[in-house]
Amino acid sequence: MTDRATWLKALAGVRFGPGDAVEGRCPHCGREELHARYVADRESRLGYVLFWCEACVHGISVSRARAPEDAPIRPFGDPASTAGVPAFRRDE
Ligand SMILES: [Zn+2]
Repeated sequence: MTDRATWLKALAGVRFGPGDAVEGRCPHCGREELHARYVADRESRLGYVLFWCEACVHGISVSRARAPEDAPIRPFGDPASTAGVPAFRRDE
């Protein structure tokens, strides 16, 4: 299992796009199928992030995170904010 620190390092290095897909290599399987989704307050950008790989369906969640300036934000309290996220296996 890939440890949490390795996932956090991968998260710090990704490039965000308009959707969930981010550029970067999965630390678990090596494929470029990483996705990240920030659910956060739009002003403070504080919230949490789900970070996973669509290929191997491993990932992490970070319960206190600040969304980078280039990351799209989904609002708290909206069921759509977590819709479509697979039930990935948390490596933590
Ligand atoms: Zn993977």
